[in-house]
Amino acid sequence: MHFLRNLIILFLICIAIKINLCVPTIPSSLKTLPIDGHFDFKQVHHAAKDFGNRYSFLPSAVLHPKSASDIATTVKHIWEMGPGSHLTVAARGHGHSLQGQAQAHRGVVINMESLQGPKMKVHTGNFPHVDVSGSELWINILHETLKQGLAPKSWTDYLHLTVGGTLSNAGISGQAFRHGPQISNVRQLEVVTGKGEVVNCSEKQNSDLFYSVLGGLGQFGIITRARISLEPAPKMVKWIRVLYTDFATFAKDQEMLISGESTFDYTEGFVIINRTGLLNNWRSSFNSNDSAQASHFKSDGRTLFCLELAKYFNPEEMAIVNQEIMTSLSQLNHIPSTHFQSQVSYIEFLDRVHISEIKLQSKGLWEVPHPWLNLLIPRSNIHIFAQLVFGNILTNTSNGPILIYPVNKSKWDNRTSVVLPEEDVFYLVAFLSSAAPSSTGSDGLEHILSQNKRILELCEIDGLGVKQYLPHYSTNGEWRSHFGPQWEAFVHRKSTYDPLAILAPGQRIFQKAAPLSL
Ligand code: FAD
Repeated sequence: MHFLRNLIILFLICIAIKINLCVPTIPSSLKTLPIDGHFDFKQVHHAAKDFGNRYSFLPSAVLHPKSASDIATTVKHIWEMGPGSHLTVAARGHGHSLQGQAQAHRGVVINMESLQGPKMKVHTGNFPHVDVSGSELWINILHETLKQGLAPKSWTDYLHLTVGGTLSNAGISGQAFRHGPQISNVRQLEVVTGKGEVVNCSEKQNSDLFYSVLGGLGQFGIITRARISLEPAPKMVKWIRVLYTDFATFAKDQEMLISGESTFDYTEGFVIINRTGLLNNWRSSFNSNDSAQASHFKSDGRTLFCLELAKYFNPEEMAIVNQEIMTSLSQLNHIPSTHFQSQVSYIEFLDRVHISEIKLQSKGLWEVPHPWLNLLIPRSNIHIFAQLVFGNILTNTSNGPILIYPVNKSKWDNRTSVVLPEEDVFYLVAFLSSAAPSSTGSDGLEHILSQNKRILELCEIDGLGVKQYLPHYSTNGEWRSHFGPQWEAFVHRKSTYDPLAILAPGQRIFQKAAPLSL
């Protein structure tokens, strides 16, 4: 009896040792690192949350860096500890990831927003640009550059995201058809690699690191500074919406608008399925061009496609701009009575999603689970995709907007790490769903996730050549197939800049200290 008890105790000790060997323990040496900022080992819960509200991995420590050198010292220390430590490091920008990409299970999360560094500096002249911290929010860059009458060229729909966070993905919005994504509008970066080295890189200097980091899902280095191209900023925006019932006509017009010299500065679109009172909702912010006709138009129950356009201008150009818009719209084939227009300041237009955020926050609807699905779909397959999904797999759009718009691949640099479909024109289709907490109905998380799964299966079965944007996979095989022929180069870059796989563990592409496989 006594022997059996000892045997059980021994067995339990062995399990405990085994578990302990597998999980990282935070070494006390972190506490002694010579940094200007500080580590927090207790208040770490915030770093285990993100916008997606579905994944939560507690880190062991949060670093609040004051400088790039604090980040470099920490990463270098962990690099020097070697593979045995199992410690990983995640940069957390504004935490607007969807599936824990900025989290580090029992590792170190770097709260990028504490980073101080040199102040944002706008450079005017022939090639205007702004030098910013990797932790800067795009909304702050907009405010600062506008003081000099300038602004970045390419945006995301929502500006309360960090430079490091969007450059790790791509940064796509309605300006991308003309200027490319945000990663096409960066001239220089300062990066802390997975070995703790601080490296400046650009097209000319350390170019492989520069292109690795752009769209690199945080795998190769932590962006501590960036130089972003600017252009003269307009003061005002004409914001236009027109509707279609036929997808083919809608897509044809969108593709016409992004080819050649479009009048418009921004082109997006969205799908409306089975919505009632749509136009009433718009009435507070949009005027109809022909209210008598528009009042006869009923959206109820139908699948509609809304083309959203914007034309930038300064007040003195008003007359000519109105003329240009009328000429361009006359070439489109939307339902004639559905022309809605609004005039807003440039800031109001770019920061439009923040208004919705404030409204949703006031109703407690912002911090709900967000099972988003973002896809890049080759032009040749967009019709079949639309036919199979809109009105079929998806029978309403009440869980959130569905964006759909084409972009030109020629505006993307094929040296970056981002993975794109094969064709010259591809569509971004974004299912931006919010789930009602604890609902088991069609607005619940399980239902939305199963819809997403069906959409992904359909893409797979029909071989539509679709790539995920803001990709999320759990197995090595899935990542390999996502990268396709780029996998080898991606692994090679990883082994060059972060050979122990210390960085961005939340992407779940590489496991620390596991051999990198081709
Ligand atoms: P985080 O969530 O903090 O980090 C994201 C990833 O980047 C993590 O892997 C993290 O480790 C890494 N990372 C963070 N900072 C750095 C850094 N300095 N250096 C290196 N790696 C870093 N995307 C678009 O392209 N277009 C859109 O229109 C768009 N709209 C959005 C609207 C909303 C409401 C939301 C929530 C997201 C939207 N996104 C859009 C997606 C967004 O671009 C990404 O989720 C982005 O990663 C969020 O930035 P963040 O600062 O919150 O990054």
